[in-house]
Amino acid sequence: MTRAARILGRRRYRPFFEELRYRLPMTVVEIRVFSHCQGSPAFPICPRCRLTIEREYMAFCSRCGQKLDWGRYLDAKIIDVELNDEHTP
Ligand SMILES: [Zn+2]
Repeated sequence: MTRAARILGRRRYRPFFEELRYRLPMTVVEIRVFSHCQGSPAFPICPRCRLTIEREYMAFCSRCGQKLDWGRYLDAKIIDVELNDEHTP
């Protein structure tokens, strides 16, 4: 196989490998807590897109499609969101 054929082959399969990365589970290790809101709602954070996940123990992130692993969720780091935090999604 020539070098050019190898490079072309790699390009052809890149979308396939990119999709596979989303199917390999990433561990949820952070929780965003809105302590200034009534009831202090808390949302897990997607390890890939860094946005909040609507519900706990979902198989996939509803925003980016990343497969999620909840095995370390009970030990997740809690991030308290300030009232005027500009990073709030
Ligand atoms: Zn995501």
